[in-house]
Amino acid sequence: MTHSAERNRVGVIGGGLGGLAAACVLAARGYAVTVFEKSAWLGGKAAVLEGAGFRFDMGPTILTVPSVLRRIFAEADRRLEDYLDLIRLDPQWRCFFTDGTSLDLVENVDAMAGALDAYAPASAAGYRRFHALSERLHRISDRHFFWKPIGSIRDMIDWRTGFSAQLMGDVLAMRMGRSVASTVRKFVPDPRVAQMLDHFTQYVGSCPESSPAVLCGIAHMQTTEGVWYPRGGTRAVPDALVTLGEELGVEFRTETGIKRVLTWGGASRVCGVETESGEVIDLAAVVSNADSARTHRELLQDAAPAAAKRFENRRGYEPACSGVVLYLGLNRSYDHLLHHGFVFSKDPHEEFDFIYKRGEPAPDPTCYLASTARTEPETAPPGGDALYVLVHAPYLRPHHDWERMLPAYRNVIINKLKTTGQMPDIESRIVYESALTPQDIHDRYRVLNGAIYGLASHGKWNGAFKPSNRSPDVRGLYLAGGAAHPGPGMPMVLMSGWIAADALDRDKIAPKGSEHPTPPTQKPQPVPV
Ligand SMILES: Cc1cc2nc3c(=O)[nH]c(=O)nc-3n(C[C@H](O)[C@H](O)[C@H](O)COP(=O)(O)OP(=O)(O)OC[C@H]3O[C@@H](n4cnc5c(N)ncnc54)[C@H](O)[C@@H]3O)c2cc1C
Repeated sequence: MTHSAERNRVGVIGGGLGGLAAACVLAARGYAVTVFEKSAWLGGKAAVLEGAGFRFDMGPTILTVPSVLRRIFAEADRRLEDYLDLIRLDPQWRCFFTDGTSLDLVENVDAMAGALDAYAPASAAGYRRFHALSERLHRISDRHFFWKPIGSIRDMIDWRTGFSAQLMGDVLAMRMGRSVASTVRKFVPDPRVAQMLDHFTQYVGSCPESSPAVLCGIAHMQTTEGVWYPRGGTRAVPDALVTLGEELGVEFRTETGIKRVLTWGGASRVCGVETESGEVIDLAAVVSNADSARTHRELLQDAAPAAAKRFENRRGYEPACSGVVLYLGLNRSYDHLLHHGFVFSKDPHEEFDFIYKRGEPAPDPTCYLASTARTEPETAPPGGDALYVLVHAPYLRPHHDWERMLPAYRNVIINKLKTTGQMPDIESRIVYESALTPQDIHDRYRVLNGAIYGLASHGKWNGAFKPSNRSPDVRGLYLAGGAAHPGPGMPMVLMSGWIAADALDRDKIAPKGSEHPTPPTQKPQPVPV
């Protein structure tokens, strides 16, 4: 066992987007930071897959709310535009329905309402009213929920001033006790338009029928800030953060899994980490970007069992949904697709019932498509397309054997693309194929039961709340990532990293600078998988 005394350093466990954001913000504020990542690449789920001349983003493909990234770069007085080339996509999604029709979601609310006038007239005025509610919910989230280490509704209240009239109004407007699905349908009677609007909750891997109405605010976030494609793929986001981190002196240690978080003072305070190879590193504080439940169950269980128990007793931790991704290298492109598309199920209630209640893959699933070659032709050989197909699936249950289940489910997905997706010849056009299953997601990213999006947002009253970024159980432990506040999806995990870093900074728990400066290591290259 080796021992490194780096008492002034802050350690970040995990180099996903949340961990990278936390590391950059901490370094920008003057802390010495080391990121420990078990994999050979940085960026976690924002990984890349290359084969036979095709390039796919393996995980996230839809980038929204770029102002969060901008704020992280601004911490270091940098401009995001100098690190990342973002391309705005409008229309944002093309939606295909089982009745053979399609509908584009466009950014401009008047243009969208105009399109609905022709497509589903009874829903046009309702869409405007839904959008007004969405704006109000977004503003409420901005005021009380975002950019702060919130763990429950209690943390939203400033106890010195108590309930202000504005807070009371905001809490009432949150429509607590109502779901996304019921709120959407109150405004929009057309089942196809409602199905489209339901799908904002798929960004957080949760069932619209069980998720709190406040998540309707996501629609306004998307219409005001747009949908973006980073040139070079979503992979360019972690690359940009790693470049920034290197410039700020962050040390990146890839292929370094953390086995344990170490504590002292009767397990009340973090004092370091132990790597899987037995190296003990003294640290002033730790940000864990690993799944929050697994952090407590696996990394803290030995050193601070009472703290791990308190975390466990606070609430239930239900994993968000998982997914199956097909990466299809095609020798043709399809003119009827846009960059982003949804090929919808016939019956969303039945689909969500399978995924979220029965815990089985939906027999008639919704497929989310990214056809990147139309925006960046270099992602496929000339004339072809790198088609990414994501189908949400239940989080892993003990009886799920995806090696056995994948071949049949792959055919279900291909058939859906042939029919509702209007690509009858797709199977014969595949010249390269790879897949990612819930088991692969579980093993690659060390998540909870293969969850793509951390913890589910289920619960009409408190479903939006996740574990706070400042651990109430162990001093010096901070949480960032999809299983911490404010939740999953690229903008939210980036924000979680900022909040964790900001809370650490406010707590003044670590001295700035390092008495034992370590030169930054070479930039690790993403590995092809
Ligand atoms: C298929 C798919 C599609 C998606 N689509 C979208 C989308 O279109 N838009 C969107 O916004 N979001 C999307 N998401 C969600 C988004 O990717 C995630 O919310 C986000 O990337 C998660 O970031 P994170 O910070 O939580 O960390 P993760 O990406 O989960 O990274 C955590 C890192 O911690 C490391 N780690 C874990 N334990 C340890 C340990 N003990 N020691 C060292 N390292 C450890 C892991 O190896 C991993 O690299 C998608 C995800 C997937 C998988």
